Amino acid sequence: MTPARTRLAPSPTGFIHIGTLRTALFDYFLAKQTGGEFILRIEDTDQTRLVAGALESLLRTFKKLGIEPDEGPRIDNENLIVEKGDCGPYVQSARLDIYKKYVDQLLKQKDAYHCFCSKERLEGMREQQRTTKQTPKYDRHCLNLSGEEVKARIEAGEQYVVRMKVPEGETIVDDVVRGSVKFQNADIDDQVILKSDGFPTYHLAVVIDDALMKITHVIRGEEWLPSTPKHIMLFKMLGFDVPVFAHVPLLLNADKTKLSKRQGDVAVEDYLNKGYLPEALLNFIGTLGFNPTGDREIYDFEELIAMFDLSKVKKSGAVMNLEKLDWMNNQYLKNMELKEIIEVARPFVSLDLDNDMIARALIIERDRINKLDELQEKLEPYVAEFQYDSSLLVWKKSTAQDAKLQLKQIKNFIEDLEDASFVNSEAIEREVRAYIVKNELDNGSVLWPLRVALSGQEKSSSPFELLWVFGKEKGIERISKAIEFLG
Ligand code: GLU
Repeated sequence: MTPARTRLAPSPTGFIHIGTLRTALFDYFLAKQTGGEFILRIEDTDQTRLVAGALESLLRTFKKLGIEPDEGPRIDNENLIVEKGDCGPYVQSARLDIYKKYVDQLLKQKDAYHCFCSKERLEGMREQQRTTKQTPKYDRHCLNLSGEEVKARIEAGEQYVVRMKVPEGETIVDDVVRGSVKFQNADIDDQVILKSDGFPTYHLAVVIDDALMKITHVIRGEEWLPSTPKHIMLFKMLGFDVPVFAHVPLLLNADKTKLSKRQGDVAVEDYLNKGYLPEALLNFIGTLGFNPTGDREIYDFEELIAMFDLSKVKKSGAVMNLEKLDWMNNQYLKNMELKEIIEVARPFVSLDLDNDMIARALIIERDRINKLDELQEKLEPYVAEFQYDSSLLVWKKSTAQDAKLQLKQIKNFIEDLEDASFVNSEAIEREVRAYIVKNELDNGSVLWPLRVALSGQEKSSSPFELLWVFGKEKGIERISKAIEFLG
């Protein structure tokens, strides 16, 4: 396969959206699968919408996720590094001279023209088009100004923009996801390509940059599809090869509405801050609208790279099912090495995770959480002082005396257990269950008081898990305390 060059072209206007990450992943998968490059280009031509720190935040998020662009700005020890590189600069505001050159070419070819229309005139024109129900587009008032007039008006200091001249005919977008989509050029506006502030518009800059940066595949959200015929016209007018286009479907909420724009719901960083693991997020987002084999949900990153297939991306909107994300995160948590989970849990827990007992509690409790911000609450009872009412120790219809008796007996039994029985909770469970059978006891009257004695809580992990976490000595200590409570 020929190496693909893909790009993510975000505008640094805020936090990084889940949808942007999905596009970035598709870009990344395709580039890596084919031995190509993934490029990050910053589209900051709309200077009024810039947000300070947005680029740094995007790069930090990418770093946390382990997706580093091959070309484009990067962050190193908190320092933003913007190198020129082979096809740079990769920030559009540093490329104004380049765009100017191509605007001149388009003007010379008569594929573009100066427009001096005032805001008021354009508003009046649009108002009239609305009332007469015409397609809203520029009426070409300035199309046929003579060269001399244009020159004179510019010299007189009049404000102007440059518009592309949409040719007659039709334009077909051959899209990998959506198939062939036909547009009538008559419906397309003579798009402004150079603004009065000297900045190109997105439409011009995106075409020039995709061409000069040798982008082979343009993957982006389907909201850009209506703009693509204009881009194709510009590629052709400028004599550039047209790249492959893939417009990926919108992300939807579970109720199929368009994904909310609220930051907490769509900012990638917020998901990381809640304790979704990078691996789980990458798996979840990298398979939104695309499932490599259709017979399972968990794919590691290398598999996603190897199996990605743009032509199999679904046309219909991809539903962001957060329950699935929770499930996936839980799967990843369950399967992590202890050392790794301690490290990822550290920022979320204010307990000493290097303590062996807490590490064992972590092994038990990580199965029962969906995300790491639920962990502190789960681990606290292991270190908390007893606060329960002694009646909690009493199983159903039995009495405090029964509970006390059972606890005393099981305590003796546990005291006599070999250390080897404490290797894991399963070994402890086997011993305790055998003890119950041998003494013809019923499960509830032994296991309930034992569990409450160990956890101090109405609901908790099993007594076997708790015994394993606490170890023999601490376990016995807790049981003795419970016996004391029962008076
Ligand atoms: N700057 C555009 C955006 O913010 C990029 C669209 C494209 O990928 O062409 O989404």
